[in-house]
Amino acid sequence: MGKYDFLIVGAGLYGSVFAHEAKKRGKKCLVIDKRKHIGGNAYTENIENINVHKYGAHIFHTSNKKIWDYVNSFVEFNRYTNSPLANYNGELYNLPFNMNTFHQLWGVKTPDEAQAIIKSQIEKLNIKEPANLEEQALSLVGTDIYHKLIKGYTEKQWGRKATDLPAFIIKRLPVRFTFDNNYFNDNYQGIPIGGYTALVEKILDGIEIKLGVNYLSDKDYFDSLADKVVYTGMIDEFYNYKFGILEYRSLHFENEIIDSSNYQGNAVVNYTDSETPFTRIIEHKHFEFGTQPKTVVTREYPKEWKKEDEPYYPVNDDKNNKLFKLYSELSKKESKVIFGGRLGDYKYYDMHHIIGLSLKKIATLFNEPDSI
Ligand code: FAD
Repeated sequence: MGKYDFLIVGAGLYGSVFAHEAKKRGKKCLVIDKRKHIGGNAYTENIENINVHKYGAHIFHTSNKKIWDYVNSFVEFNRYTNSPLANYNGELYNLPFNMNTFHQLWGVKTPDEAQAIIKSQIEKLNIKEPANLEEQALSLVGTDIYHKLIKGYTEKQWGRKATDLPAFIIKRLPVRFTFDNNYFNDNYQGIPIGGYTALVEKILDGIEIKLGVNYLSDKDYFDSLADKVVYTGMIDEFYNYKFGILEYRSLHFENEIIDSSNYQGNAVVNYTDSETPFTRIIEHKHFEFGTQPKTVVTREYPKEWKKEDEPYYPVNDDKNNKLFKLYSELSKKESKVIFGGRLGDYKYYDMHHIIGLSLKKIATLFNEPDSI
């Protein structure tokens, strides 16, 4: 018998919620993370009194009231509404694609006018079966929206020409015929006041944590500490890549402190042309309506992922999904280790999904009804 009931590998939202709930049920937990901080990818660091989203902009959104109440039981959330802008060669457009965007593109004032333009552009193209991402996007939204707001951004994101990308990447492109710049359709959204680190600190309150330690560097020792292990790292790394490497896309962030109180007037500005090398500039203070004298901005550059990089977006194509299946089958045979989180499942999840999955796992393990 180990000293702990659960060793939890990863102090991200999956591991933290798991530890909190297990502790509530009387279990002794140790949380470890190879990073020197808690919060996983949602981590925010205080720079110039501004909560900087160190691993990319994170906006909490959900339509699940139970999950919304759950996160709000730890910290208060503000009323931030995600309304990104697009900068295409210096022209500004509202996102997501809505009547404001269409007015900026074509000067139209009514939904009928906007719908007619999109319809006529799609009809002119006459694409029957889209053979690649470019044709797929063109057949959904027409020429102007595609060329100004999708093509450059997508090609930078994937590091490949849209004509070389498969059509399935884009299933739908929501187009809104109302003057509504709210990016998400969810009932609830906001940012934890004080940043995500404050939220995760509250979730992990009273739980033993060891930071800067890599579970895989001494797996036998760490396994000996607990009866069960909850592993939220990369599943292929756990098995020493025995079937091959699961691919990701990565990001490179360039942070800059600027001696100005307001740099771009919005938290998120996407650069949708091909010439600008980055995809977005994030101005962190606007997530919390900051009034600090300085500002911190982050330029986000997509990049190819290599083993030493942060794995951000799983490349869920056929090849990688088949490979994941092999690892997943193997993981089901483990009696001591429970796999979870975005890296354990090799899947992109939003934070509300991750919290829901962690709560569901607890319910299953403790033979409780699923309340989420
Ligand atoms: P993580 O947060 O990655 O935590 C896993 C932890 O395990 C890490 O801290 C890692 O260091 C640790 N670990 C791994 N291996 C080991 C090891 N061997 N030993 C010790 N520790 C280990 N979601 C939203 O809802 N809204 C958003 O706006 C949003 N924006 C995003 C933007 C970007 C750029 C990205 C990449 C994701 C975004 N997400 C967003 C998704 C969100 O980040 C995830 O849903 C969430 O962080 C996943 O939590 P997790 O606990 O599964 O993983």
